[in-house]
Amino acid sequence: MTGAPDPALVERLTEARHAIDARLTAAGATPGTVQVIAVSKTHPAATVAAAMAAGFTDFGESYATEFAAKAAELAEQPPRWHFIGQLQTNKVRVVAPFVDVYQSVDRPSLVSELEKRAPGAAVLVQVNLAGAAGRGGVSFDDAPGLIETARAAGLVVTGVMGVAPLGGPDVTTSAFRRLRSLCDAEGLADCSMGMSDDLEIAVAEGSTMVRIGSAIFGPRG
Ligand SMILES: *Cc1c(COP(=O)(O)O)cnc(C)c1O
Repeated sequence: MTGAPDPALVERLTEARHAIDARLTAAGATPGTVQVIAVSKTHPAATVAAAMAAGFTDFGESYATEFAAKAAELAEQPPRWHFIGQLQTNKVRVVAPFVDVYQSVDRPSLVSELEKRAPGAAVLVQVNLAGAAGRGGVSFDDAPGLIETARAAGLVVTGVMGVAPLGGPDVTTSAFRRLRSLCDAEGLADCSMGMSDDLEIAVAEGSTMVRIGSAIFGPRG
């Protein structure tokens, strides 16, 4: 990456940062207690650089190949990178040089691969809040076992992550409440829940980390 970020973009992203802070405060968050992860998937490295100039420090990415190319461009002055998407085991090698926190650890095979390629990595265990087993998270029932497996593999489990299932505010509220209970039961610090459309509910239910894409960067293409 060369050149200073576009001033107009930095200004727009600074306004977006203030707007998110205002939403967090209005939702009852004590300032500084809920970390904002700016979800920059599909947006270029130049946009991330502008968002860093606007005061964002932590970024979330979902697509391994896209992420690795972007992170390589920003390698001289990297932000803190959180991997938040489905991660195939054969892509761990590609992202490992850049990832600071793996938020989507959801199965033992991924734990094994991280043990090999990213020993001692900081991870969150992703729980499927829809209740069903399957893609995008371990079931609530299997989460404590996976946390143990990750710890036994030398990974540092700092929290849990979840995406609200479809179904409206009541469904979101009870899903987030259940994730927060798991976080407390496991004695974990990080409870990563809340996105652009449900951050208020997430904060009310005890989120410590919100992952915000479109409300910062606009709609994805
Ligand atoms: C894309 C994504 C987000 C951000 O979604 P927005 O609705 O754009 O805020 C958050 N978390 C995960 C896991 C995502 O994949």
